[in-house]
Amino acid sequence: MKTKRFILLVFVILLLSTFVSCKKKSECEKNGHQYVDATCINPKTCKICGMTEGEALGHDYSDATCTKPKTCKRCNMTDGDSLGHNWNDGEIIKKATCTESGMEKYTCDVCKKIEERVIDPLGHKYSEATHLAPATCERCGDTIGEKLPSVLVDAIQANDNMSVNEQQEIEIHFSNDQAYQIEFSDDTMIELISQIGSICVIKALKEGQVTLIAKTTDMAEYDEISITISENTFAINYKEKDNVVLPEIELLTYKPSELPLQLPVPTKEGYYFLGWATPDIVTKYGNMALELWDTSILWKEIPVGTTGDLALTPMFGYTRFELDVETTIIDMNDNLKVNVIKKYFSAEQLLSKIVFASTNDEILTIDEEGIITPKKTGYTTITVSLEDYSNINITLGITVVEDLDGLDELLKILIEANVKEVIAKNITVTGYQFIYGMRLRGSVSNYLFAEHFVDETILTPLNSENRPGDVHEKYYICVHDTASSAKTADAKQHAQYVQNGGGGTSWHYSAGDTGIYHQIPDNERAYHAGDGSREYHLNDSGLLAKPNAMMKVTISEDGYFEIDGEKSQIKAPLKSNNQIPTTSEINDAGIRVVVQNGKYYIGDTWWSDTYKRVSNTGGNVNSIGIETMVNQGSDLYLTWQKTAKLVAHLLIDNNLTINDVKPHHFFSGKNCPQTMRDNDLWDNFLTLVSFEYRILKDYSDYEISFESLDKTYVNDKGRVIKQEMKDITVSYNITVTKDGVSKTITLSTIIPGNSRFLFG
Ligand SMILES: [Zn+2]
Ligand SMILES: [Zn+2]
Ligand SMILES: [Zn+2]
Ligand SMILES: [Zn+2]
Ligand SMILES: [Zn+2]
Repeated sequence: MKTKRFILLVFVILLLSTFVSCKKKSECEKNGHQYVDATCINPKTCKICGMTEGEALGHDYSDATCTKPKTCKRCNMTDGDSLGHNWNDGEIIKKATCTESGMEKYTCDVCKKIEERVIDPLGHKYSEATHLAPATCERCGDTIGEKLPSVLVDAIQANDNMSVNEQQEIEIHFSNDQAYQIEFSDDTMIELISQIGSICVIKALKEGQVTLIAKTTDMAEYDEISITISENTFAINYKEKDNVVLPEIELLTYKPSELPLQLPVPTKEGYYFLGWATPDIVTKYGNMALELWDTSILWKEIPVGTTGDLALTPMFGYTRFELDVETTIIDMNDNLKVNVIKKYFSAEQLLSKIVFASTNDEILTIDEEGIITPKKTGYTTITVSLEDYSNINITLGITVVEDLDGLDELLKILIEANVKEVIAKNITVTGYQFIYGMRLRGSVSNYLFAEHFVDETILTPLNSENRPGDVHEKYYICVHDTASSAKTADAKQHAQYVQNGGGGTSWHYSAGDTGIYHQIPDNERAYHAGDGSREYHLNDSGLLAKPNAMMKVTISEDGYFEIDGEKSQIKAPLKSNNQIPTTSEINDAGIRVVVQNGKYYIGDTWWSDTYKRVSNTGGNVNSIGIETMVNQGSDLYLTWQKTAKLVAHLLIDNNLTINDVKPHHFFSGKNCPQTMRDNDLWDNFLTLVSFEYRILKDYSDYEISFESLDKTYVNDKGRVIKQEMKDITVSYNITVTKDGVSKTITLSTIIPGNSRFLFG
């Protein structure tokens, strides 16, 4: 519109100026034109006459931009519109939340202008309310209103009274037996042990009131029950014991849930506290040597899980030294180290110095390390004591001789027979009437210093049922025990029993501490071994003998005896079911093997079906049977020593050796002699036999005399008759005389203390 009006105006002006020009034309012809320069829209024009020349210049436009249209550089005339910005995709510089605005930033790709724009808040997006939760914004978790209420149902079946540590099985049934979970108001009072289907096991932990809540997994249903937990209080009774001092005791009762609880520590002069024993422990271990106890089972505290009243006995170990030496007999060239073992020392006692002293420095000295150096021949003692606790001490006897190798041969054997430490152990003696326990005390020597005497006055009449009188070669000594524990069941009574028929049984000797009785002549058959009339007989094994062989017999899978793993040509006897026996079914004393002409010979064997053992023959027919007494109150060790002396005589009389001494077990598999076997003393018995045999065989022309130098502890036979609480050393003189020449030596031995066997 503006443009049209402008054009009309220009037309009118042109029309008027034509009139004017015409009037002025003559004037410009006279004075010349006065031109005005051409513009964008007008040509060069005379301002007098309006005469024009040439054309108008036309506009000179620049390009349009984001914000400006095309514009003439001369007259600023515009044409069209600006281009507008070319915005990019923008970037979020602050996210909008449910409740707060965000901000976005945009940039023009062309002019790089930046513009920030506000994003409106998003507003909440609520889910539906459930039993588990109220309506909740999916984005920000904001809730509105309440969750749907759970419904109380009767689902739990349980006892609402429990005691501490009690477990209870409860049943929980929600509608349709849907899945559920359990919570407790206090997890320290009760715990869930298991949950399988509708069955839960809960365990009460401590006294009080606790609520058990069960809820279905979707919380639509729930049930709860309040459980009262009660707990018993138990009394502790501390047993009194001689000389035991208990500290002020506060712990007189306990509740199981409080456990563990430290028990008081009592003291006893001279002893070390090991712990408290319950009646069970006292019963189980009461008769067992302290050395064999596992003292860790004693209580220092009441262990978790204990219920019921307690009766506790304090147990102590006797604080003492024990000594460990290689020998107590040395010659002038020897040194001897005394090793000291500390038993039941307190922490303070362990720090105190050990002091060694010789009673007679002229015979020997002992240094700070316990090393003995001999000075001259003789006997003396050394004492080991604790510097700060002089009551803890021990004495050891040492014999110094000029030259051990140069001693009289018999003295050498008697030195060898000397026991460094006397046997002392609690053993169980089994009799058919009763079983009894006793403290077995050995002797100072493996040789019995006593006359050998056999009473021949209670012989069995010939042609009695138990003495048929047939004579046989003797290859064995067969040792039994009577398994008769009655006090009166002594050797004389047994001799009379055999004399009176023996119920069809018989044996050659009855040996006891009170005497040895001969019932059947040695060369006759008797009925004691349980192997019937099976005679001794040897079989060529087909194997060559080897030097220093063990001659250990086993059975091959196809039923042949093997000697040291080599298969012989002799078959083992079949069992009663015709099966081949195994090596483990051979009796403990083995199978007879002897070497003759460089070959092994195996004795006849048989299957003892009564005792299920492969056994040897020749028990009744070819052995001399000895019954040893085990009657209560008798001196079992003296019985065994007397028996050993008897056996030595029989070996020599019958030209036999120590290898021919067999337990009854060898002939039938019977556990006989049971007391020696049960208490692991058979080998010791053979040791006794070997010394008696060696001395009898080669030194019967000597006179041997014995003198105890500590008669309170050792009698005139060398038997130990008393023990002290601690280990003690006792000494004795042995004199051997031949052709009017006597030689004497003083020897010593340790008698183990009672403290090794008893708790304080
Ligand atoms: Zn222009
Ligand atoms: Zn003009
Ligand atoms: Zn732009
Ligand atoms: Zn929200
Ligand atoms: Zn027997």
